[in-house]
Amino acid sequence: MENFVVSARKYRPSNFKSVVGQGHITTTLKNAIKNNHLAQAFLFCGPRGVGKTTCARILAKTINCQNLTPEFEACNQCDSCKAFNNNASFNVHELDAASNNSVDDIRNLVDQVRYAPQQGQYKVYIIDEVHMLSNQAFNAFLKTLEEPPKYAIFILATTEKHKIIPTILSRCQIFDFNRIQINDITDHLKYISREENIEAEDEALRLIATKADGALRDALSIFDLIVTYSAGNKVTYQETINNLHILDYDYYFKVVDALLAGNISNVLLTFDEILKKGFDGHNFIIGLTEHLRDLMVCKDPATVELIQVSEATKERYLDQSKNSSISFLLSALNICNQCDIHYKASKNQRLHVELALMKLAKLPQALSLAALAQEESKKKV
Ligand SMILES: [Zn+2]
Repeated sequence: MENFVVSARKYRPSNFKSVVGQGHITTTLKNAIKNNHLAQAFLFCGPRGVGKTTCARILAKTINCQNLTPEFEACNQCDSCKAFNNNASFNVHELDAASNNSVDDIRNLVDQVRYAPQQGQYKVYIIDEVHMLSNQAFNAFLKTLEEPPKYAIFILATTEKHKIIPTILSRCQIFDFNRIQINDITDHLKYISREENIEAEDEALRLIATKADGALRDALSIFDLIVTYSAGNKVTYQETINNLHILDYDYYFKVVDALLAGNISNVLLTFDEILKKGFDGHNFIIGLTEHLRDLMVCKDPATVELIQVSEATKERYLDQSKNSSISFLLSALNICNQCDIHYKASKNQRLHVELALMKLAKLPQALSLAALAQEESKKKV
């Protein structure tokens, strides 16, 4: 463990093939290289941590590689590739516009563009967070972007495409990066765990992936954190929820079981236990709403795919879903939703949640009474 390297750096993709979850982009870029149809200005848009800068660097490396593979990937062995991999290449320039957004910063960059590369074919300029450039800086840049020398390629990256002025947009080939799917992130974490001989529970990796909300970089740093905190070679579900301060989904199963049995005391005691562990009542009610939603989704085989959990957990959802009627789930979702909406305004928030839980626990009885009454009225007709 003494030499634990941050996963994000160690497992940074070295070619297009190893980029996670952006197949539509890497394929297009490879085709452009193959057909010699490379644009001179690109705009990479998308949320943070999904691989924009990584793809920009790979593109820069690939087009300068002296020995492209038959799949049009960088060889990672030639001098140019080695220089790129050691961050020592003179053919790539990166500017972080978040901290260097003045006219002078852009003028410096534009000055450099005038010099042709000494080695290799292309000089690549990556401008990260390009929406942060000042208006003046944008204008100073525009002319270079309009008529770049043959050897210059610009890759602009942004998390906020709507802030890019139309004159820039119209000059760039635009690529929209996706939020990365939970399954793709989970698979990648599984791969890293295998490579690092880390025993990781599926459920833990999935939770990390969910928490990262589509950003692979975030998932990797959470993963590193948990590996460091645990014994160093294990990532367990329990350890993960403790570290991320996430409520164990076991609680939601337990609460819904008690609700279905109409057991108010049991539900209130469980809620008390959750509060004592330091969890917030509002988060609990939001979590319970999501749980009910997942149970609802399990009612129809066509929508089961909408829940993003491991196979083993899916079985538990399917089981509990079988025991809950659609009318129970609908009414329960409604009660939870109301509780969520009015939570902030409530003077006694604990009671506010408890009241909702009591109503929920009475639901099965109320629903069966209603059904009974309906039967009766049918008989009379
Ligand atoms: Zn190479």
